[in-house]
Amino acid sequence: MVIDCHAHWFSRDFSMAEGSWMPFISEQVNGQFYKSVGLEMTDEAVADALLVQEGSDFVRQIADGGLDKLVLLPLDYYDFFGVPNCDTIEMNRRHAELAKAYPGQIYSFFGIDPRRPDAAKHFYTAVTEWGMKGLKLYPPSGFLPDDAACHDLYKMAIELDVPVLSHGMEQMMSTKDECHPDNFLPVVQKFPDLKLVYAHAGGVNWFDQAVDMLKNYENFYVDLSGWQIMPDAFITGRMDTIIEKVGSLDKVMFGSDNPVFNPAIPTKQWVDRVKAYPYSDAEKDAFLGGVAESQVQLCLAAIGQVRDAPGDGQAGVGTAAGAVVVAALPVRIGGDEPGGQPQPERRRPWQPLRDGVDHAAGQPAATLL
Ligand SMILES: [Zn+2]
Repeated sequence: MVIDCHAHWFSRDFSMAEGSWMPFISEQVNGQFYKSVGLEMTDEAVADALLVQEGSDFVRQIADGGLDKLVLLPLDYYDFFGVPNCDTIEMNRRHAELAKAYPGQIYSFFGIDPRRPDAAKHFYTAVTEWGMKGLKLYPPSGFLPDDAACHDLYKMAIELDVPVLSHGMEQMMSTKDECHPDNFLPVVQKFPDLKLVYAHAGGVNWFDQAVDMLKNYENFYVDLSGWQIMPDAFITGRMDTIIEKVGSLDKVMFGSDNPVFNPAIPTKQWVDRVKAYPYSDAEKDAFLGGVAESQVQLCLAAIGQVRDAPGDGQAGVGTAAGAVVVAALPVRIGGDEPGGQPQPERRRPWQPLRDGVDHAAGQPAATLL
């Protein structure tokens, strides 16, 4: 069983404002990631590769990637990348419909900026009526994980017994360090029953603190999405560190963050590399799908459905949850408005990676992720 617990659906309809697309592609995806692995593509070709219109494209992505299941994480980061021609609820509803059309293969979390009105209510509807499996948060869009706006969502996730997956590394286009592990510390302390997945395991710079969190907080998980651009020796070195400090890989999940990296490193290649890593079959099975599978099972159990049953408990996707006008989002909270928490400044200037990874040396540039 191989589950990609971290994938996205990019569409011109709802991913970001039209004017944000090419800067994102050019500076972040192509400029940072692809060139680091020696892939030369035009920005236009990268944009085409990332944009997906058809559900069947995901089925092909699953088959080509050697995957059994794929979990989509809707991104409500419109404060960051600009407002697209689609409101947040409609964007989520389309993800739910896609998952409903491919039961047992495609699952979707619900993604919302916690500052939106009635965010927890919409999250409840998404899980109980639309069959969505958890909550995706993207703090670099302008909030901190412990902001009060998030608390109702965490309480709802606990009540529904579904996980919350948050971006968990630097965001090169942000000027703050919203996702530093220190900012999740009060969350895991206030909400010990919250199943929290810290995506990307802190990347390169915050990995050590992420491992401490893995060790100290039972319901704290990580995924290794995006790590496929690192050399194998570096990845297994980090996995060894987790085993050494935490005792096992039982809370570490496989993910790709695709389609972001797929043109540079196809999912199949990432899966095959993991299968060749020097761990037991049981450890690799747990990493590749076991942990995510238990999360998916848990989510289905929470809404009273049998796993992979016909329809997969996703009836009612068409139920109106009420439109959320994305332009109504308040200004950035956390230090930018009176009474907000001070947001930590980035601890060091962002150093864009331009010249690639020295794979032979097995060491990435320090700021690669
Ligand atoms: Zn992602």
